[in-house]
Amino acid sequence: MGEFELIRRYFATVSCAGTGGEVALGIGDDCALLAVPPGEQLAVSTDTLVAGVHFPDPCDPMLLGQRALAVSASDLAAMGATPIGFTLALTLPRAEPDWIEALARGLDAMAGRCGMRLIGGDTTRGPLTLTLTVFGRVPAGQALTRRGARPGDLLCVGGGSLGDAAGALPLVLGEREAPAELAEPLLAQYWRPCPQLALGQALRGRASAALDISDGLLADCGHLAAASGVALRIEQARVPCSPALRAFAGEAGALVCALSGGDDYRLAFTLPPAELEALQARWPIAVIGQVEPGAGVYLVDAAGVRVEMPERGFTHF
Ligand code: ADP
Ligand code: MG
Repeated sequence: MGEFELIRRYFATVSCAGTGGEVALGIGDDCALLAVPPGEQLAVSTDTLVAGVHFPDPCDPMLLGQRALAVSASDLAAMGATPIGFTLALTLPRAEPDWIEALARGLDAMAGRCGMRLIGGDTTRGPLTLTLTVFGRVPAGQALTRRGARPGDLLCVGGGSLGDAAGALPLVLGEREAPAELAEPLLAQYWRPCPQLALGQALRGRASAALDISDGLLADCGHLAAASGVALRIEQARVPCSPALRAFAGEAGALVCALSGGDDYRLAFTLPPAELEALQARWPIAVIGQVEPGAGVYLVDAAGVRVEMPERGFTHF
């Protein structure tokens, strides 16, 4: 099977590859064409996933496809953008039809959930690597950025518990086993993260700053604090950890996963207190701390006393 046959058979014909919406021209020409509505800006983000670094090799290609797109779409959520589409630069060691078909199915499933179209890509031979570039749109000037947090704002995270995906790593890597009732909820957070796209859009004009927690809560809050020129105080007891994670990793281990583990594709954001009630009526939102004057991130216990912080999140170099 040649490169063109592979693209045609597995990618150009997948249901998310059609035109429509802002996609005026999709796969098949030298470029895709996007029509961004007047008064809106294009939000663009790229993420690369390398086999053996960002996911285990071998792994289930369907789950890999879902996860790859969810990880990238989370960056659109963090900006408050509405998804349009994505490109896929795929490097494969060999063309195995079943494997590629399952990857495409996983991408298609997540694309359907996120309202995104596959608009192009590149296909090459080499060590297994996926680079996804996502495109979204946001009303001009309304994107959520990391700048803008002000002293007095609340520090919040969207959705349920933190740290489950990091806690799942020993299971993903086959280093540990656990009964299904513990393993399944943790593995689901690793393989099928749910980008908080609707929450991100709802935060436009309300949150003062936002980002997604992909490198770990403390590390990413550090980025937000630095960009905004403020300090963030995090109350350890308010950091949400799931019962499954506590049972699997222990109290202390669960907290380390939630504070320092990567792969929580959740939004962290700062919010003027007056905005909280209306948002909490529509979304599960945990208030985990406050914005203060100063610099950096610090942790306090239930009595308000500063506590030692675990290691910061993942970095490649
Ligand atoms: P070019 O030589 O112009 O770079 P390619 O031969 O790489 O074009 O790709 C042909 C068409 O198929 C282009 O529209 C490209 O965007 C698309 N394409 C290539 N690989 C993929 C892929 N893995 N997924 C989706 N579209 C792809
Ligand atoms: Mg090409």
